Amino acid sequence: MDNIVLRCGQNEIAKMQKYYEVSLLAKNPPGGVFAAKTKDCTITAYKSGKVLFQGSGCETEAKKWREKVAIAPDSHSQKQPSCLLPDGIGSMSVIGSDEVGTGDYFGPITVVAAYVKNGDIPWLKELGVRDSKDLTDDKIIAIARQIKDAVPYSLLILKNEKYNQLQRAGMSQGKMKALLHNQAIQHVLNKIAPIKPDAILIDQFVQANTYYQHLKGQKTIVKDLVYFSTKAEGIHVAVAAASILARYAFVQYFNKLSAAAGFTIPKGAGVQVDQAAAKLIIQQGREALPKFVKLHFANTEKALQLVKKKRS
Ligand code: MN
Repeated sequence: MDNIVLRCGQNEIAKMQKYYEVSLLAKNPPGGVFAAKTKDCTITAYKSGKVLFQGSGCETEAKKWREKVAIAPDSHSQKQPSCLLPDGIGSMSVIGSDEVGTGDYFGPITVVAAYVKNGDIPWLKELGVRDSKDLTDDKIIAIARQIKDAVPYSLLILKNEKYNQLQRAGMSQGKMKALLHNQAIQHVLNKIAPIKPDAILIDQFVQANTYYQHLKGQKTIVKDLVYFSTKAEGIHVAVAAASILARYAFVQYFNKLSAAAGFTIPKGAGVQVDQAAAKLIIQQGREALPKFVKLHFANTEKALQLVKKKRS
């Protein structure tokens, strides 16, 4: 491995510049704050907050600034340097984004990007804004109603019919998610302009380079200030707020689907889901399925088998 990227705040970059004062290079690259060269490492800091350490001494040098430098498994490939979050991101003004519904056979995918300015962090935490997976539906509805008018956000719902259409055309779920996240974030940036967030944090569902590959050919690709982390709802409350608003929309949509089915449809992708799908096929015909489910899940085949058994 001979290159490492750290994500740093402007203060930290200023500290670095001072630290490398004697090794500074005369020329900055485009978008650069400073460039410096030690005997075994070149350090380049960019206005975007990215600081690139290159050369055989990159790890030693980067570790001066971070106790732990997370080395991605394939970080020896030049294309995938390890990325770390800026120090203190948890108390910054951040756009967070998260999605719900990708593992549920019934129902859409909902994606929300939400902007939480640092002054709003305390009351949101007080309210109990945390990962929607830890909260009951009732609690989610109660919290969502309190935050939806206070927090600027964008909600995108990928309905089942559209999902099935895209999936049949060969689009992976990962790509659908990438497109939705990118679009939701763009909407929020437009909403809050001219204010800019300190960072944009996506609850990670793929490696960053795969995410950007999915976005190739898009008119706007939000890249500036974007960070990825798993369990991001624990890193910034904006991701937790996004996760709650996404689940709130999912639950509401799910209730509509239950009304259209004429019975309560279950979440997840387990046996009870196969049975519910079989019931739906018997009552409304197979052609009703695409409006309710993600057809390519194995549950479709299982439901059809159950219907066959019942009819024989
Ligand atoms: Mn997530």
